[in-house]
Amino acid sequence: MNHSWAAPSRRGLIGAGAGLAAGAAAQLLAGKAEAARGMATLDQLKRAERDPDHRILLRGGIVLSLDPGIGNFEAGDVLIGGKKILAVGRNLNSTASVVDASGMIVMPGFVDTHHHQYETILRGTLADGVLGSPNDGKKTYQGVIQGIFTPVYQPEDAYISELVASLNQLNAGVTTTVDTSQVSHTPAHSDACIVGLKESGRRAVYTYSPGLGPSSQYPKDLLRLQARYFSSADQLLTLELNAAPNADNWALARQAGVPIICHIVGDRSGNFEVMGKAGLMGSDNEYIHCTQLSETHWKMIADTGGKVSIAPAIEMQMRHGMPPFQTALDHGIQPSLSVDVECNMTADMFSIMRTTFTLQRALVNERSLAGEQNLPPLVTCREVIEMATIAGAKAAHLDHKIGTLTPG
Ligand SMILES: [Zn+2]
Repeated sequence: MNHSWAAPSRRGLIGAGAGLAAGAAAQLLAGKAEAARGMATLDQLKRAERDPDHRILLRGGIVLSLDPGIGNFEAGDVLIGGKKILAVGRNLNSTASVVDASGMIVMPGFVDTHHHQYETILRGTLADGVLGSPNDGKKTYQGVIQGIFTPVYQPEDAYISELVASLNQLNAGVTTTVDTSQVSHTPAHSDACIVGLKESGRRAVYTYSPGLGPSSQYPKDLLRLQARYFSSADQLLTLELNAAPNADNWALARQAGVPIICHIVGDRSGNFEVMGKAGLMGSDNEYIHCTQLSETHWKMIADTGGKVSIAPAIEMQMRHGMPPFQTALDHGIQPSLSVDVECNMTADMFSIMRTTFTLQRALVNERSLAGEQNLPPLVTCREVIEMATIAGAKAAHLDHKIGTLTPG
């Protein structure tokens, strides 16, 4: 099997698509600029990417910083220099390219903490399906997605899906995704995923994951990928290992200095509890779903500073179990939110946030109507937005860079 892979010739096609998007943005900016006289042009904004001293002022927006030390503003400004935020406040003065943000919300980008982006080209193919097991037949995720489509993926399929998923999510305000593409059948598949993520220009965490078939080099190819693509800490793409509870694999990740992410849907094997009792769970772990877990599991997650990612729409639709928002909150954990798979459900973070908001409140409201006293508080819109931003940044181990509008 051919293990070498480079970006394909259809790059020209993608270039044309990106040109359209840039064109649309330029039109939008031109319209804004005309209305506000003398505002920033797209060229000026692009200059800021290259020049760390170039400044951009987002003026007069409804600023939702999500930083308690900064607060929110009905009409506020955000000053950007190069790749960093320099100031957030009222009536900032600076020589800068100005963007009129009046009537718009200025806030951190959404962080989606678990998304199998290699499946985005399969969007909607399993809208009525459930998770299932490999023997449940063809209308399950295991039967259709894992059984039919995933095994025949070529590197180019993974590349195009990663790129399209990233551009779509960027367009929807999701500026960071933890990509959990489980399609590393060969090292070339992993390379293709990374090239697709990189070409989008968006921030992402690439989590190296198992693939299918005898050519998978999982997990040891982690070290090659790290050396080849992740040598700098100052880049948009960062690395994690997607590894089910297994002492050797988690040790490999920690030797390489990369965080660990894993799906936890119940613990029938008991392996998760074994890891906890062996003292192997830590703050470098992100746990996806966390449905069907016991009090012992939750205490271990909370006591070790573990991060939690809940994919509420998928968990309800595909039978992972009840999304454990209340259990996480009861243990002092603010969960992050995730999309999971587009074969079954939308990747729109507003849908995910509304699912979160309505579900937690519906369950507490039912308890109230049943006469229960001393109920947990209903989640607020603000808390749900935090889950989709700063809690996501923490789960992705990127809260030193993203998640709030904070100078620096
Ligand atoms: Zn998943």
